[in-house]
Amino acid sequence: MTDRAQATPIRQPSRTRLSDGRELLYFDDEPGIVHDGVDRRELPRPVNLSQARWDVLTREWTVIAGHRQQRTFRPATSDCPLCPSRAGNLTEIPESSYDVVVFENRFPSLAEPLGRCEVVCFTSAHDSSFAALSPQSSAITSRMGWGSDADQILPFQISQR
Ligand SMILES: [Zn+2]
Repeated sequence: MTDRAQATPIRQPSRTRLSDGRELLYFDDEPGIVHDGVDRRELPRPVNLSQARWDVLTREWTVIAGHRQQRTFRPATSDCPLCPSRAGNLTEIPESSYDVVVFENRFPSLAEPLGRCEVVCFTSAHDSSFAALSPQSSAITSRMGWGSDADQILPFQISQR
């Protein structure tokens, strides 16, 4: 992390709930932004059937999460569930734009009491990259796990290319 990112203060997030009760947080580059978008999807309450099983052959704990087979897989850009909502594509983010947003994964590998899986979207621009972020957004994203009680953070970037 750069010194600039470390020196950038992070504002308190705006919090809301998605239609199925999952928590969503907006972290904004600028103060005073109002997020009043409402998730208009009628999603069922999340069901998590994950199990942690001891594999006697590998002598490791393994997570079995069959419900994840229902998750979105390689959608067309026009159907991206992580882009801001618009007419014809209501997504995980019920706003027309955002800087950084964090929400509970709809198809988590782990759920309470085993853990909590969150998705971090660091830009509302579908084809952008981490390198193109503003100092505020990159600071938020870089420090997302700091000061939290997260045991593990597994960063990856979804790319359509
Ligand atoms: Zn997208």
